[in-house]
Parts: sequence; structure tokens; C-alpha cells
Amino acid sequence: MKVPPQHSQHERAEELPLMTDSATVADVGHMGHNRTEEVVERVADLLRGRGHDEWVERVERPTANDVDWDELDSLLEDEEGGHERLYTMLSSLKARYDRAYPTLLTARIDVENGFGFTPGQYVTVRYRRTPRPYSVASSPNKDALEFCVRRVPQGRLTTKLFGDLSTGDEVTVRGPNGDFVLEEPSGRDMAFLATGTGVAPLRSMIRYTFEEGRDEVGGDRRDLWLFLGATWKDDLPYREEFRELADEHDNFHFVPTCSREEYLTDWEGETDYVQQTLVKYLAGDAATDLPDEIIEFADDPAYDIDARIVPEELEVYACGVNAMVSRLAGTARTLGVPNEHVQYEGYG
Ligand SMILES: Cc1cc2nc3c(=O)[nH]c(=O)nc-3n(C[C@H](O)[C@H](O)[C@H](O)COP(=O)(O)OP(=O)(O)OC[C@H]3O[C@@H](n4cnc5c(N)ncnc54)[C@H](O)[C@@H]3O)c2cc1C
Repeated sequence: MKVPPQHSQHERAEELPLMTDSATVADVGHMGHNRTEEVVERVADLLRGRGHDEWVERVERPTANDVDWDELDSLLEDEEGGHERLYTMLSSLKARYDRAYPTLLTARIDVENGFGFTPGQYVTVRYRRTPRPYSVASSPNKDALEFCVRRVPQGRLTTKLFGDLSTGDEVTVRGPNGDFVLEEPSGRDMAFLATGTGVAPLRSMIRYTFEEGRDEVGGDRRDLWLFLGATWKDDLPYREEFRELADEHDNFHFVPTCSREEYLTDWEGETDYVQQTLVKYLAGDAATDLPDEIIEFADDPAYDIDARIVPEELEVYACGVNAMVSRLAGTARTLGVPNEHVQYEGYG
């Protein structure tokens, strides 16, 4: 499936009308945290009792926040068979150890003279001469524009944003643009599917839906599902906020899924990819006649949610990096969500 090309081009976004050239950063925050200590402790736990006490002692010393991964590799090679899972866990922990910094940043930007946009749209933010498109993560009912940005290693703009962006800085904002927007309210339930910061435009849509009472049509309440995937728990943007929203609204179901978190903590949530996780929450009838590539995931769900999904009666909004979003939208169609009710946007 082809992701709409206009959504992958920074150049195109730069041609958007000027919303303002004097927007001011009101607030910058970081989500996620440095988990190096946790990782080191977990590595020591995994090795304890396997006859590697000397190694454990070394990583446990308060000053020895320094794991020698090469040595660890050779140590595992010397052991006899059966280490596949241990090896996978340690490789994942190494990846997290290497990436000690927080990966998510939120910024609120005040735009002089107001602005208008539709939930799901994006604008181009230009900071220190580098422009990039970002989805607006806040509802249009709010006074400031909020963004949620993932740090890309060596990325031109994100390196500056994570290093320098501060309250009071001036940025240029162009737009809004994009046709990844909500359908008119109907009796359909809604499923929002995202990986990482792909949740930004979905957050705007979800908040707006509840603020405007669009979750109720003709006296009937619709179910809203959010399936949000990331590698680690702290890479799930706004996870506390979505949990609170689910507490407030019986018809909002938050289903976070983390592929590696169980290697580090006692995570008991979903661990499969977003599109595989969705399959577990299908209504009985919908789950009986699934294609071979999907049926293996129709397993027991990790979360205790009473509601179930009927694909034919669903509208789907999917967002994330291009390769991932194609898979999400493709699975929705394969499950029977009508083509005209599958909206998606890819981050190039
Ligand atoms: C419509 C639209 C909306 C977007 N909204 C958001 C948003 O809300 N939040 C957000 O964080 N990003 C969003 N992006 C992506 C954003 O525009 C930038 O591409 C991203 O922040 C990287 O910019 P950079 O200058 O740091 O990296 P660059 O120097 O431009 O790129 C470095 C390399 O990283 C790759 N790359 C780009 N984005 C990612 C990514 N997310 N993950 C992994 N690799 C990547 C690029 O393909 C390139 O190879 C959106 C993109 C589009 C097209």
C-alpha cells in the first residue's frame, strides 16, 4: 500500500501558508528518562546464580555504571546451549543502555493572533533555520499548540530541539495542512492505531471527540479504542494521560503494547505489534474467520476490557512511520474495515 506522498515531503510542507513568524515557545518538557541504573541492575539479576558472580559484583558496584558488553558476549558464548532468550533479553537491554537519553519531547507554542486547525492536521515548525512538519497534538479548543517530538539520532532539527529549545524561543509556524482528519460523527466505533509519536494527531482527535461530545451520536455512545505501541514503556507518549482518560470514560479503551519492556520490568501488558494486538480484541464472530497471517495472534488479551471490536462497524485512524502505518492500515482492511473508513498518515 502506498502512503500518500505529500505527507512525506518536508519541501511540500514548507510551501504552506504562513500561520505566524512570531510564535513563542511557552513550555518544553521531556517524557521518558535515563534508565541506565535500572538496566544495569537487571543485567546483574539475569546473571546472578549463573556462576557469573564476579561479573555481577562488578556491575553492581555503585561507580561501575559501565557494562562491558563485549565481555558479556564472550561470557555467554562460553556457556552451554539454551541461552537464546537470555541473549535476546541482554541484546535488548544493551540497546536501551546505549540509548540512555529520553527520546520524547513536548513543546507548547503560543501563536500570536490565534490560529485555527482541524484535529489531525500538521504544521511546519521552523527553528534555527530548519523547518520540519509536526502534527498538532493538542485539541483546537486549547490556547496553545502542543507538539510531541521523537529524537532521531543525528537528526538535523530534533538534535537542536532536544539540545536547545527553551521557553521564550521564537519559532515560525506554517500551515495548517493535511487531510488526515476525523470523519463526521456516525454510529461507528473508532480505533486509533499508532506507534510512538504517531499518536500526536490521534491525541488531538481523541481529546476533541470527548470535549465536543462527538462520542455520542443519536443518544448512543461509541467506543473509542487507542492501540499505542512502543519498544519501552517510557516511549509511550502521554501514557498516564490516556490511562486517566480511560478511567474517566467507560467508552475509551487504552491498549498500550511494548515489545521489550518485559525484559526490564514486570510488564504484564501487551507485547505484540499494534496490528497483532488489535486482533485480540475482536468480537467473537469477527475472530473466527481470519486470514492465516493473522489468526495466530487471536489470543487472550492482556487487559480486562469488556467491549469488543466489530471491524465492519469501525472507523480507523492510523499514524506512524511510513512502513509501520502501511501495515496498520493493511491489517484494518484485511479484518473487514471498509476502505473508506480507514484513514492514515505516514511520517517520512
Ligand atoms: C505530516 C508529518 C507529520 C509529522 N509529525 C511528527 C510528530 O508529530 N512528531 C515527530 O516526532 N515527528 C513527526 N514527523 C517527522 C518530522 O517531520 C521529522 O522528520 C523528524 O522529527 C526528524 O527530523 P530531523 O530533522 O531531526 O531528522 P532528519 O535530519 O530530517 O532525518 C534524519 C533521518 O531520520 C529519518 N527519520 C525521520 N523521522 C523519523 C522518525 N520519526 N523515526 C525514525 N527515523 C526518522 C529520516 O528518514 C532521515 O533518514 C512528521 C512528519 C510528517 C511528514
